[in-house]
Amino acid sequence: MIYQRSSQLFAEAEKVIPGGVNSPVRAFKGVGGTPLFAKSAKGAYLYDEDDNRLIDYINSWGPMILGHAYQPVVDAVIEKAKKGTSFGMPTELETKIAELAIAMVPNIDKIRFVNSGTEACMSAIRLARAYTKKDKIIKFSGCYHGHSDSFLIAAGSGLSTFGVPNSPGVTQGTAKDTLLAHYNDIENVKALFEANLNEIAAVIIEPVAGNMGCVPPKEGFLQALKEVCHNHNALLIFDEVMTGFRLAKGGAQELYGVNADIACFGKVIGGGLPVGAFAAREEIMNFLAPLGPVYQAGTLSGNPLAMAAGYAMLQALNSDVAIYDRLEAKTAYLHQGIEKVLKANNIVFTINRVGSMISVHFDANPVVDFQTAKNGDNDTFKKFFHGMLHEGVYIAPSAYETWFITDALTYEDLDITIEAVNKVAKTL
Ligand SMILES: *Cc1c(COP(=O)(O)O)cnc(C)c1O
Repeated sequence: MIYQRSSQLFAEAEKVIPGGVNSPVRAFKGVGGTPLFAKSAKGAYLYDEDDNRLIDYINSWGPMILGHAYQPVVDAVIEKAKKGTSFGMPTELETKIAELAIAMVPNIDKIRFVNSGTEACMSAIRLARAYTKKDKIIKFSGCYHGHSDSFLIAAGSGLSTFGVPNSPGVTQGTAKDTLLAHYNDIENVKALFEANLNEIAAVIIEPVAGNMGCVPPKEGFLQALKEVCHNHNALLIFDEVMTGFRLAKGGAQELYGVNADIACFGKVIGGGLPVGAFAAREEIMNFLAPLGPVYQAGTLSGNPLAMAAGYAMLQALNSDVAIYDRLEAKTAYLHQGIEKVLKANNIVFTINRVGSMISVHFDANPVVDFQTAKNGDNDTFKKFFHGMLHEGVYIAPSAYETWFITDALTYEDLDITIEAVNKVAKTL
């Protein structure tokens, strides 16, 4: 495979864009080499600037659940664009997508649209703090909630229960209000509540973690979390930016039968355009301006092109009764196929999977939290990544990412992928 034009484009980009990219994980820092530049995509395939065809398991990091350039979404955007691309006034379409999202997701009465998952999570914790009149939040190590200051926090050392900034520019003052817990460890969460009585506004969690590989919640963990939050008058926030409209129509809330107090969305909800949203019961959402005191706004929020794309996407998912079963069946097939060839090649590995999310870890032990996710052999992953790329299969350029299965993938594509894993495994 030749990456000549991509390499040239990257060199040009580096002169005018920090690191050549507008979001760091695109830069291949975790695996070495230089990133491919996309030229176009259709269905299950990406085409790069050197005209290589790649089977895509990143899918824009989640949104393209029905494959690239899904026709109803493309058509909806084109038709809308002809009528004006932004008004700064309310439009009927915003109400329609809100009604549809509320019908699909359990336990929400109202929804507010923003422009990214970051904005959704940032606004959700502001709302939770205002609603509970408390300042601190608990997040879990290895969960990602976007790049706003409150979430760029690492665990403090030793016995300190509060976090420390994990990016320069985040202040100590912000960090002290974010407490770090271990994923899947309810006793740890209880201890944090005990040590910070009447101070915790909310617990925010990826109900299936997807930013340390795919890490499912242990049986009963989300239910227990809900109970602990309830006992301490704290809100439970599900960050469903990755899982929303992906694991089920109603996301992880539906899949696990646990109601969150606030749910955050992004990725799939925008059909590939920049959309985020957060939603809750009426009494919580009514705290938002202009009804309530909590300020939150956006010049391009509810943008007509973005709403058109999102509405077409949600309609497609809502009207296809078999979609989630189909996605799960394809993912299970891939899981079994990869497991078989890795075993046959004596590779040490663990595969995690929920619905259409799957991750391959090069470690024999179960991956249940950030600590165990970090045990994976990164050198093996790097070789695996580049080997797969060479075979025409594009997985995320980081050992801490989930693969996303789309409905556009055929069983033939999956077989090609499994055979690629078999070939690459022989070189590891
Ligand atoms: C991607 C992601 C975000 C951030 O969304 P952006 O649209 O990139 O700002 C937040 N939470 C989770 C779980 C995500 O996967």
